[in-house]
Amino acid sequence: MTARRRTKIVATLGPASSDPETVRELVDAGLDVARINFSHGDEASWMRAVDSIRRAQAETGKPVAILGDLQGPKIRIGSVPDGVEISRGDKLNIITGSEIDGYHDDEGSLTVSCAYAALIDEVDIGGRIYLRDGELELRIDEIDGARIGTTVRGGGLLTARAGLHAPGVGLRLPAVTDHDRVNARFAVQHGLDFLALSFVRNRGDLDVARNAIADAGGDLPIISKIETLSAINDLDSIIDASDGAMVARGDLGVEVGPAEVPVAQREIIAAAGRALMPVIIATQMLESMMTRARPTRAEASDVANAVWDGADALMLSGETAVGSRPVEVVAMMDSIIRTAEQGDPRRAARSDALSSDTARTISQAVATAVEQHPQVKAVIIFTVSGRSGRLISQVRLPVPTIVLGPSAPVLQRLALSWGVDPRFCDPPPTIERMLDDVEFAAIDELGLSVGDSVVVTGGLPLGQGEPTNFLKLHKIPPSIS
Ligand code: PEP
Repeated sequence: MTARRRTKIVATLGPASSDPETVRELVDAGLDVARINFSHGDEASWMRAVDSIRRAQAETGKPVAILGDLQGPKIRIGSVPDGVEISRGDKLNIITGSEIDGYHDDEGSLTVSCAYAALIDEVDIGGRIYLRDGELELRIDEIDGARIGTTVRGGGLLTARAGLHAPGVGLRLPAVTDHDRVNARFAVQHGLDFLALSFVRNRGDLDVARNAIADAGGDLPIISKIETLSAINDLDSIIDASDGAMVARGDLGVEVGPAEVPVAQREIIAAAGRALMPVIIATQMLESMMTRARPTRAEASDVANAVWDGADALMLSGETAVGSRPVEVVAMMDSIIRTAEQGDPRRAARSDALSSDTARTISQAVATAVEQHPQVKAVIIFTVSGRSGRLISQVRLPVPTIVLGPSAPVLQRLALSWGVDPRFCDPPPTIERMLDDVEFAAIDELGLSVGDSVVVTGGLPLGQGEPTNFLKLHKIPPSIS
């Protein structure tokens, strides 16, 4: 039996990866969740990505989730001349409240725009502005009308629509912008599975986002991107009001400084574990593969450590959106995760966190059955709502777990959850047919044999939305072979 990967892969689609052929190759290489970053592209490009994903799903039969990432109150510069490098000592002007194209003037100074008009009131001479997740550093020399004159202190490649960050700036922005509302409507209309909310500051931001999604006519689960100091300070409350969390290390690193990011990462994973929510680790996981064939050893270790820390999913951003070898990056991440998981067969069972209602009791019983019966080789779950699949994921079972259900949206959402493989299956009308489906999945999907045992759970009568209410220890009988 080949080891199944338990930690899921989220990959951002972009110009390098949205066509149907590349998306199909990404799915074959291991993509579980496709991210559409609404900070980049336009409706036509997002539509193309959605069509490619649903086509790959139909071709492969593998449910793939689509995560729409709302830009949120992120401040960005406008367009810049192609491939512009800025160096220490260069002059750079930012024209606030405008959307002009970037240009070099006669003296060689670069001028770019920033649509956020209030920026001019929120910065001071002598202060710092950071661009591109803090890669580039500017010192403010002058403030003149709508123009901020700066000198480059830390240079590098400047890219169009790069994020702009300055301490204490942007707090007055709304949690959900007009741009986000348009994107939320797109997400609802085109059947996306999750929405990520950027720059969450407090629990109240989640209410605003839920209302915006309801206004758009949907009820998508929300993944809170943890990337501000205020979110770190209000972590449990924010995660409790969310359906999942993302450690958005790019902006978080600018906000708290790089040294604090690993500490925050562990805290966020722990908080998500307490709340039984999935958590995604994002940004710069295999960054060097944007241009190179192999990752650095430090990147490989970062991916493995995120697995060992207990993340549900790991995310690729620019590596797959605009990098030179998107498919190889996913294949590399798949390989590092599999190797890390083999090196750590002991999973931290979290069943002690489960309590109260029947579904939780059954999830706990499944964990106990797997622990106490070494002959149990897999768990097979019948679900309508997906809830038992999400709960079982959080128990971190050491054996393969297949979740069978009839609803495409439910199965697509399970693509984000650690260690569960969602598969389409109509609800069996009788117990006998249910056991046929179990034996088929065990033998065909998992390569189990006659005499192996599996734990089966679901809600009887199947397919009617009953909460999980049974657990069966089932030995595959000889008649099946
Ligand atoms: C991040 O800041 O790490 C992140 C994931 O957000 P974005 O890619 O939207 O900047």
